[in-house]
Amino acid sequence: MRGSIADYREFGGRKKTWIGDIATVLGRLKHPVQFDIELMETTEGIERLIKEVERSSARRLYDELSSSRFPPLNPAARGVRPDDLDSVCRMWKYLRTVVVSAHRRALTRLLCADHPFAVEQLRRKTYVPRDCRPCRYCDAETETEIHVLLECGGLDDLVVRREEFLGVVGVTPDSLSRAQCLAEPLDAINYFLEHDTLAPAFAKYVYDVFKLFPLSIVE
Ligand SMILES: [Zn+2]
Repeated sequence: MRGSIADYREFGGRKKTWIGDIATVLGRLKHPVQFDIELMETTEGIERLIKEVERSSARRLYDELSSSRFPPLNPAARGVRPDDLDSVCRMWKYLRTVVVSAHRRALTRLLCADHPFAVEQLRRKTYVPRDCRPCRYCDAETETEIHVLLECGGLDDLVVRREEFLGVVGVTPDSLSRAQCLAEPLDAINYFLEHDTLAPAFAKYVYDVFKLFPLSIVE
């Protein structure tokens, strides 16, 4: 049969075979997978190869999640294991606990950097250095997710809304202190997302904050 394992063995990369195509694609992955023709001859070998591809995919996704564009997704802060595809692709708990769809959408937009804050919007237009994407309401040099959600004091409505949310944080039995939220904001956001009560409250807060930061201001 043309393109068989026997052909690959005989001609290697000198003849086009479907086995050769697999070897080429595996070698082009961001985290290349070493192809060994011996693996294709047994079920166990093929399963090993599949596991290697899963590990490569997990590392690729982990790298993407580690991007500075997605600070709230930071996999290290979420205890994600870089070689484990199930760990990297784990379904976020907030997708179940946040039942108001508009709030869930807002939270997803925040996590996926599809939000109205200047750090993302000014990156999309023409490249503007990160430290030149200032907060529209105060003198912070970058309007980041963390700045807006946990720090900015430049807009009264935002401060009031944040106090309401932090009030909810403070009344849960296993609550984080305000100081802890500010000292470790990424840990705090991950804590909110994993908490049955706080995830819906945080999603509602994000939804409300988006309305205070219309796109038109940075366009
Ligand atoms: Zn600000």
